[in-house]
Amino acid sequence: MERTLLLVDDEPNVTRALKRLLYPGGYQILSANSGAEGLTLLDQHNVNVIISDQRMPDMTGVEFLSQVRERWPDTVRIVLSAYADFKAVTGAINDGAIYKFFTKPWDNGLMRANVREAFQHSELNWRNEQLTRIFESTLEGIMITDANGVIQSVNPAFSLITGYSAAEAIGNTPRLMRSGRHDAEFYQQMWQSLDDSGQWQGEIWNRRKNGEIYPQWMVLTAITIAGGRPGQYVALFNDISEQKRNEERIRHQAYHDALTGLPNRLLFNDRLEQALAQARRANEKLAVMFIDLDRFKNINDSLGHAVGDQLLRGMSQRLAQCTRDEDSVARMGGDEFTVLLPRIQQLDDIEQVARKILHSLSQPLAVEGHELAVTASIGISLFPSDGDRPDILMKNADSAMYWAKEQGKNKHQFYNADMSAGAVEHLALEAQLRRALEREEFLLHFQPQIALHDERLIGFEVLVRWQHPELGLVPPGKFIALLEETGLISPVGEWILHAACRQNQTWREQGLTPVRVAVNFSAHQFRNADPAVLVEQALRNTALPAGGLEVEITEGVLMDDIERSINTLRRLRERGVTIAIDDFGTGYSSLSYLKQFPADSLKIDQSFVRDITCNPQDREIVTSIITMAHALGLTVIAEGVETRGQLKLLRKLHCDQIQGYLIDRPLPVTQATEVLARAGTEDPKHASEQGTQT
Ligand code: C2E
Ligand code: MG
Ligand code: MG
Repeated sequence: MERTLLLVDDEPNVTRALKRLLYPGGYQILSANSGAEGLTLLDQHNVNVIISDQRMPDMTGVEFLSQVRERWPDTVRIVLSAYADFKAVTGAINDGAIYKFFTKPWDNGLMRANVREAFQHSELNWRNEQLTRIFESTLEGIMITDANGVIQSVNPAFSLITGYSAAEAIGNTPRLMRSGRHDAEFYQQMWQSLDDSGQWQGEIWNRRKNGEIYPQWMVLTAITIAGGRPGQYVALFNDISEQKRNEERIRHQAYHDALTGLPNRLLFNDRLEQALAQARRANEKLAVMFIDLDRFKNINDSLGHAVGDQLLRGMSQRLAQCTRDEDSVARMGGDEFTVLLPRIQQLDDIEQVARKILHSLSQPLAVEGHELAVTASIGISLFPSDGDRPDILMKNADSAMYWAKEQGKNKHQFYNADMSAGAVEHLALEAQLRRALEREEFLLHFQPQIALHDERLIGFEVLVRWQHPELGLVPPGKFIALLEETGLISPVGEWILHAACRQNQTWREQGLTPVRVAVNFSAHQFRNADPAVLVEQALRNTALPAGGLEVEITEGVLMDDIERSINTLRRLRERGVTIAIDDFGTGYSSLSYLKQFPADSLKIDQSFVRDITCNPQDREIVTSIITMAHALGLTVIAEGVETRGQLKLLRKLHCDQIQGYLIDRPLPVTQATEVLARAGTEDPKHASEQGTQT
């Protein structure tokens, strides 16, 4: 810090002498010969100490220094004058305008010492000033107590934070602000630390004057006096409520679902983990519920996400109302919720909660002018009987939930071991199957059928495949039955019929040899819809001539309702399509019925074809089917032909057509197209020989 001295005297000799005397002290020295000139210099420089003569023509030293005090109160102001002037100056010393009076003439050593002291005084003033400013303006609360803990001084921030004015605090002890949140041990440790290291810091809850309890971050320091005893304690503290709230908010966000405010999967898992530990210790039971809203997707899709979101919020409130305080409700995402029920006494209790939830959720909810009624399905797993780990309990509750849905929804279902992974997979498959059509995951394969006498291509059987995003190509055996159960076979079957006709018509338009495609009709399709109408639509939409389509219906389906079957088949044939009775031999048709069915061909089931060369009984059956069919004017096609031996034998038995791996597997459309293109040009005799290699 630069130390600047201003000398003011109308006698240049005096200032010159002083300058010479004080120069070695390292001060920056300014001089003026009048008060007016002194003021000008003060305007331009940062002066610490002023030494002024008293007797000057225009203004006296006291007058000058009084003006200086007004504008530069931090300066150290000294009058240097003859002793005779002392009287005139005393008043100014008393009211603080002047710090000291030096006499002329002076003793050089004393003068140097006095000036040094004046600068020290200036520096101390400055430091005090700084400290006071910090004390007054800092945002941290500061409290100083004596060795007995009696408050001696506090700063404005203290008052702002605690609500206590300085007057209210001083003389009191910090006990005034205790929250009651900490036990005796807490304070003991605090004192221990102060004794040991002279410091303590940590989080502490205190009470404001208005009663509000809030957290502080506090640093306590013991200020020791002679002998190392603490003479004072200084407490510095911040109000960290805001910070705590922020932390709390972030924590909350990490552990809660933004839409409903419910705990999320993370927090639920945590709680489940804890509850399991507790249950294990106390030998208690607990239950996990997995809740899924039925048909929520419909609402979301048809009314929009805003409505869906409100519905979810409404449902989560209801869930919270249906449960005890000690239970936990969480949202797993989507329309899935979980409930944890600790300390279960008897199954009946769970049963009651489940019913209460189902009832509550099924009440209509008004959202943006819509009266929404949704139901839910609940799966329940129990600790310890259904698992002892969170993931297993969750998985099993989830399986049970699928089961509840399967049983017609709006139900609860306890897990049992029969709900094996396979069964659940089946249910998951169903859910995916529902989306497969709109996602265009179905595709058609075409399996060539040839005439035995010249091995000419007659057509293709159309076989559906499901291109599953994860499982790959799924064969129909895995999903046709499921399509039937769920009724999805209607839209999917219709799609197959159209796609098959369209493909065949495309081939025809490409100028390829006209063939027919044989489309399978499932039981459900045959019974619940009118195949004649469906066929009519497909032919009309695709412009395929009726002769390009064959309908395959299994023998079993036809036998279900013979009257109706006959009627349907007749109408189909009137429309011009041909009819094949599929899987023949596996049902119980008697000849007399077969006679009545207006069909064109019989397909001998592959189970008879498989052993035809080695099993005389199968050969007998196939022989009589062929004989009988021919007697009725029906064409016979054998399916599942895999070997040359089977082919030779079938030819010998006068079977008309064959289909099987020997000729070709069911082919993707590009390969089927190639086969069809070859059929127009190649010597058909080669077909079966080529087929053996595949
Ligand atoms: P299906 O109508 O009797 O069809 C013949 C099945 O035998 C096909 O199985 C075919 O790939 C298979 N196959 C053909 N040649 C051979 C062979 O040489 N050896 C063996 N072992 N098998 C052969 P895929 O495609 O798995 O179809 C199974 C069943 O699924 C079909 O039996 C049919 O009932 C049903 N299906 C297939 N596609 C459709 C469809 O588009 N609609 C309906 N409703 N049902 C279909
Ligand atoms: Mg078939
Ligand atoms: Mg078949």
